[in-house]
Amino acid sequence: MKLSSRARFSTVCLHAGQEPDPSTGAIITPIYQTSTYVQDALGKHKGFEYGRTQNPTRMALERNIAAIEGGKAGFAFASGMAAIGAIATLLKAGDHVVVSDNTYGGTFRLFDKVLTRYQLSFSYVDTSKLDEVERAITPATRMLFVETPTNPIMRLTDLRAAADLAHRHGIRLVVDNTFASPVIQRPIEFGADLVTHSTTKYLNGHSDSVGGIVIAVRDDDIEWLKFVQNAEGAILGPFDSWLVLRGTKTLPIRMQQHSANGLALAQFLIAHPTVRHVHYPGLPSHPQHALAERQMRGFGGMLAFELGSFHAARTVLNSVRLLALAESLGGVESLISHPATMTHASVPADRRAAIGITDGLVRISAGIEDIDDLKEDLAQALERV
Ligand SMILES: *Cc1c(COP(=O)(O)O)cnc(C)c1O
Repeated sequence: MKLSSRARFSTVCLHAGQEPDPSTGAIITPIYQTSTYVQDALGKHKGFEYGRTQNPTRMALERNIAAIEGGKAGFAFASGMAAIGAIATLLKAGDHVVVSDNTYGGTFRLFDKVLTRYQLSFSYVDTSKLDEVERAITPATRMLFVETPTNPIMRLTDLRAAADLAHRHGIRLVVDNTFASPVIQRPIEFGADLVTHSTTKYLNGHSDSVGGIVIAVRDDDIEWLKFVQNAEGAILGPFDSWLVLRGTKTLPIRMQQHSANGLALAQFLIAHPTVRHVHYPGLPSHPQHALAERQMRGFGGMLAFELGSFHAARTVLNSVRLLALAESLGGVESLISHPATMTHASVPADRRAAIGITDGLVRISAGIEDIDDLKEDLAQALERV
């Protein structure tokens, strides 16, 4: 079994980075649940010395996702936040970062509450407006950190234009690609220097593992991230690596269904009299629909809708039966949540208001259930408002 360099995307997802196990021929990369490796003689080993530094299951996953994202190397971490923390070690005291203003709440918390203690500074701007990004860049800026689409109101950043702008100023473009998944968009194709994922979401896809990954293209970044992964030690364990490898095999067909259900729910909700507004890049009414068609293949399974009041949102959230009231996203089962009090509770109220996260906003992660069951469930919940 040898993967040709011309292999198409679904084949890459299924096979890249994995060879049948050399000792048994097992087609699936085993879970190498070991802390150390016996050496043949002093100074002579098989390339594996200690479990934090090298693990065959983790390394297979890293090769697999690097190939899926079109990068040169991947580094798997214990969570999406640990992966973003590792990216931050590319910065030094005094450096400045421009960040998408409605970035993931945990990313904001890490930047605002932890990294500012180390003399790093951050400017939060609407990265869908690149003139605002350019105005925020200072001589100390080293990184542009973008999330597109954003959570939960699905605003987009033009990745090619953002990469061009960043490179004109000699800074790195980092893209958190968790919300879209590499099936929907591959930022490295547009010029991104680093891509990160919470593998907890679509890449694993089955709501049974927490993890993160960084994909790099620049040799200096690859060397540093490899060093930091071992030095800080926030590695993804072998069992979780195996779960995510299992997840990426079906990523293309899962995303097809997530996207189909996302679009169908957005269309259903926008036609419903109780719903005031729907945020979904696949709707022609989305202000950046044309950009979505250019840089995304399909529009994904994430959407949010406005019900006008906390009371209405609470009624819907407490009335659904099939959709599960829970944080997180990207699993095969549909989830529904209230950003203002759940995922974005750590974001101050004035910032929440500024980025459109109202008390009446409800977010859905469309799973892969039969669409008619999802619509029926939402219809009966909306009926109670
Ligand atoms: C969930 C998430 C993270 C953090 O990942 P964890 O695995 O929960 O640490 C980062 N960015 C985005 C966009 C996410 O959705």
